[in-house]
Amino acid sequence: MTYVIGLTGGIGSGKTAVSDHFQALGICVVDADVAARVVVAKGRPALAAIAEHFGADMLLADGNLDRAKLRAAVFKDPAERRWLEALTHPLIRTEIAAGLENASSPYALLVSPLLVESGQNQLTRRILVVDVPEELQLARTVARDHNSATQVKAIMAAQASRQQRLQYADDVIVNDGSLAEMQAKVEALHSKYLELANAEVK
Ligand code: ATP
Repeated sequence: MTYVIGLTGGIGSGKTAVSDHFQALGICVVDADVAARVVVAKGRPALAAIAEHFGADMLLADGNLDRAKLRAAVFKDPAERRWLEALTHPLIRTEIAAGLENASSPYALLVSPLLVESGQNQLTRRILVVDVPEELQLARTVARDHNSATQVKAIMAAQASRQQRLQYADDVIVNDGSLAEMQAKVEALHSKYLELANAEVK
């Protein structure tokens, strides 16, 4: 069994920047967002189930999922959202588990914005939270996505709060400094995770 660290944090907190550095240190990274796209790719049974449930106009002309349309449909209807999650969450979990099982590094990282909310934390041994003050989170996300502060604030309000995330954190990276400072924190945790994974094998 691969020793798995779950990495989570709010929008623009630095999950990608942090996981990129773990990857540069040789650690296999599995991305839950990628798995979520794979399970509804063209030809996958879940896409056929979505087209049957919502109608064929949920598909684009090329047969791929119209993601924006599906997002809008489930946003306005909680029952539809639950239906979609009941379909996709187990498939996403299986897809992630396969990726983690194939990991060739001493431990692996699962990056997921909804690690705990989706139950994906059941696949992990520890939870690493990237924590950042809200003002910085807002400024970095606005600069990256060129969205309005109002749009980003609305997303932040819909996500778990900093306090909620910190409650389930085993480890925390406070990403309020430079990229170099964040990378030094990643390297310290990398040493710790190598030791933990190593102790597990023995
Ligand atoms: P999302 O949940 O939206 O995918 P994320 O948590 O993966 O976001 P990143 O994309 O890694 O967040 O970071 C958000 C932005 O902040 C990016 O433009 C990234 O380059 C920048 N950033 C991250 N950490 C730092 C840092 N320590 N110093 C300066 N910029 C940073």
